[in-house]
Amino acid sequence: MAYDGDTDDLVARLNTELRDAEPQAILKAAIDLLGDKLALVSSFGAESAVLLHMAAQIKPDIAVLFLDTGMLFGQTLDYRQRLAAKLGLTGVRDLRPQFQDLAVHDPAADLWKSDTDACCHIRKVLPLDRALADFDGWITGRKRFQGGDRLRLKVVERGDDKIKFNPLANWTKADLDAYAAANDLPAHPLVEFGYPSIGCWPCTAPVEDGDDLRAGRWAGQDKTECGIHLERATPTLEVGGDI
Ligand code: SF4
Repeated sequence: MAYDGDTDDLVARLNTELRDAEPQAILKAAIDLLGDKLALVSSFGAESAVLLHMAAQIKPDIAVLFLDTGMLFGQTLDYRQRLAAKLGLTGVRDLRPQFQDLAVHDPAADLWKSDTDACCHIRKVLPLDRALADFDGWITGRKRFQGGDRLRLKVVERGDDKIKFNPLANWTKADLDAYAAANDLPAHPLVEFGYPSIGCWPCTAPVEDGDDLRAGRWAGQDKTECGIHLERATPTLEVGGDI
């Protein structure tokens, strides 16, 4: 979607119309607006089943973009296969880092030890940006209750030249749990071991009761987001590729 003032007007209007809507209504509005030019980005993590289930009820062939960073827990890879099959989602795409970026910048697969921003850049941000070139908008699973920058999350926002829909922005953890129970959705296998938020294995730890739900992500660092939801700055690495 090319940048123009009308896009900002559209985002503002959608926000006004949808800010108090139920997630399913937001999803429906997004799908009606953009059709096959809309993707859903999912980590197949701790809370992903709810949004994936809702999307499958409306458009089971929706493009679902899954960032397989090469650093995910084996349980997440299994869960991605099982959940997609159970929900009847037929459009899941596995996005992987580009070989030449890994060969040049992370040949030993240990960049996360020295520079997590750079590691996320080549393993998450760039693969997603390449995939999103085919779409005018995307759906995220972020919620306000997750805290941090997400406290101010709008239901519809502009992300670079795309429209971003956050259908679960208004929902609470209790809302998610109730929906998952009512629809008999399987939990990510690591949730029962104390992982309420699940990303790559080097950067995800279990949390104690009462901790922030994302406290186990990049624990001990200032970093709270991988970068896919941040405004794009100049890349920190000189990378290959076609974006
Ligand atoms: S979460 Fe950690 S391992 Fe995964 S891409 Fe980011 S820095 Fe690398």
